[in-house]
Amino acid sequence: VMMPEMTGFEFCQALQTEEAGRDVHIIITSARDALEDKVKGLELGAADYLTKPFSLAELRARLQVGERIVRHRKSIKEQKTQLEHLAREDMLTGLSNRRHFEERLQEEWQRALRYGHALTLLLCDIDHFKQVNDLYGHACGDAVLKEVGQTLLRNSRASDVVARYGGEEFVVLLCEASPEQAMVAAERLRAAIKALSFHHPSGSFRVTMSIGIASSESKDPEGPVRLLAEADEALYAAKGLGRDRVECYKKR
Ligand code: GH3
Ligand code: MG
Ligand code: MG
Repeated sequence: VMMPEMTGFEFCQALQTEEAGRDVHIIITSARDALEDKVKGLELGAADYLTKPFSLAELRARLQVGERIVRHRKSIKEQKTQLEHLAREDMLTGLSNRRHFEERLQEEWQRALRYGHALTLLLCDIDHFKQVNDLYGHACGDAVLKEVGQTLLRNSRASDVVARYGGEEFVVLLCEASPEQAMVAAERLRAAIKALSFHHPSGSFRVTMSIGIASSESKDPEGPVRLLAEADEALYAAKGLGRDRVECYKKR
């Protein structure tokens, strides 16, 4: 407690202002044995207070308690990180799930508003996917979804948000892309999916994907919802025009 330059109390206080410091288990050992000093030390962040003279055996025992607490705290932190990761991930494909995508869409929308850049959404839907399940079984369908998801991820930029939106639908959010660049990106994804080849004991097969594009620069607070609705409308148009194609949303 009584140290040159800084008191032990000030040291405890200073540690609390840093994230890493708050994880430090502090045991104060001091000749000052007044009740108010003990209370002050504990209130300022120390976990324990030993008055001098103390026995080495007691210090050792209290250090062991500290070690248990630190280990426990570390394990809770790791579990928290793991749970946060699981809550964001789509179990089958390993991509972001819809929930995480919607969070990112809100964030990116705010960023796009602030910096005045465009935000483009690609809504991708595997064509006739029900037939894959019907012809090759659900497990094979799952393997196709995994491969399609990873292919979308591999063929996107690190700054894009790629997620499984649900079932056989995926979303790719392009940040700072012009409508022309988005079209090129969508065509690249469509071609990459079409190039995949899947193997099943009853034969090899391919799948195709239809993509709806919506782009926005408006300051509409309902923006993200509208962007999704417009991409969905464009996707519907792509399906109607024969599938395996990219369509941009057109205002009617
Ligand atoms: P369209 O070209 O119009 O999109 O036809 P589609 O058959 O792809 O569309 P539809 O919506 O009729 O069928 C989607 C299918 O996707 C039905 C559903 O069983 C399947 N599906 C959804 N989620 C999963 C999944 O997690 N695993 C598997 N294997 N199939 C899934
Ligand atoms: Mg669908
Ligand atoms: Mg489909």
